[in-house]
Amino acid sequence: MGKINVLEKQVAELIAAGEVVERPASIVKELVENSIDAGAKNITVEIKGGGVQYIRVTDNGSGIEREDVANAFLRHATSKVRVEEDLGNIRTMGFRGEALASIAAMCRVDLLTRTQADVTGTLYRIDGEETYLDDAGCPVGTTITVRDVFYNTPARMKFLKKDVSEGNSVAAAIEKAALAYPQVAFKFLRDGMVKLQTPGDGKLLSAVRCVLGKEFADNAIHVSYMEGINRVDGLICKPSIARSSRSMQNFFINCRYVRSKTCMAALEESYRNSIMVGRFPSCVLNVTIPPYAVDVNVHPAKIEVRFADERSIFNLIYYGCKTALGTQDIQPQIKADE
Ligand code: ADP
Ligand code: MG
Repeated sequence: MGKINVLEKQVAELIAAGEVVERPASIVKELVENSIDAGAKNITVEIKGGGVQYIRVTDNGSGIEREDVANAFLRHATSKVRVEEDLGNIRTMGFRGEALASIAAMCRVDLLTRTQADVTGTLYRIDGEETYLDDAGCPVGTTITVRDVFYNTPARMKFLKKDVSEGNSVAAAIEKAALAYPQVAFKFLRDGMVKLQTPGDGKLLSAVRCVLGKEFADNAIHVSYMEGINRVDGLICKPSIARSSRSMQNFFINCRYVRSKTCMAALEESYRNSIMVGRFPSCVLNVTIPPYAVDVNVHPAKIEVRFADERSIFNLIYYGCKTALGTQDIQPQIKADE
């Protein structure tokens, strides 16, 4: 008899879910991105027990129509992509239609939602194979409550760290979102205590002050630089407050937080000679490039991206920061010609 089994649907579902939902922070990231995609101006995140026990995300976005509620939890069900060509032109944070399906496969979920057009809201509950739908009063927007993360996947539960460190990762995910979206007011409560609150006044400096603190905010330099259709905007620090780690380097591509060696190298190169070896600049930089110039579909959590033209991104950040630092050298080849 052959050795290859075609996995049962439920087993396959858990494997797929595991790629999207690694820990409570990945759940929060996905839910917050959905709120942003729904046009929310206020997003509140509450967690208990590091998020393993309880996560609730409340937004005042568009809400979900009742007839779409159950579909939103199906795998590959999304309102954001229709045809293959759309994948080359992604303008939303989500697009795979996998987050809600994955979360519901591994946790107990309650969704409460109402659109402007609906008089009554909808409550939808998923607990394993069981679902429940009913009328419920609620304001326009969506609240998703997630309980008992990984209750049905003990193998994965074992890999969770202590509540404190899971909670810290959740906080980090919210901080990135708050920096990327200064026009959204974020509030984060951890075990009943308010840990972060941003005004949502649209000013990056306000968000930076709340998230990264007074020292950076008081010593920030504006970056705003264009090269062709690409641009970079944000804040970098004065060389005098460079730090001993890279923990305050925040790069975003089209408002999506990314880890990128190219961006990091370009930033640090622009500070060369103005800070000591072993010190690192802080930044919050958002690169705006056409969606087709970047592939965000290379990493399950979309944290790593691939640029069509790596060099142009390096130059954009390098010259953008150099200009802002006021130390841009005269092009060496022009000098040579003289
Ligand atoms: P994706 O974000 O990739 O589309 P998700 O599984 O995260 O996939 O969400 C599925 C769908 O559910 C979304 O496309 C959207 O239509 C709807 N949805 C999810 N969260 C919200 C929300 N907070 N507000 C409004 N609609 C939502
Ligand atoms: Mg999503």
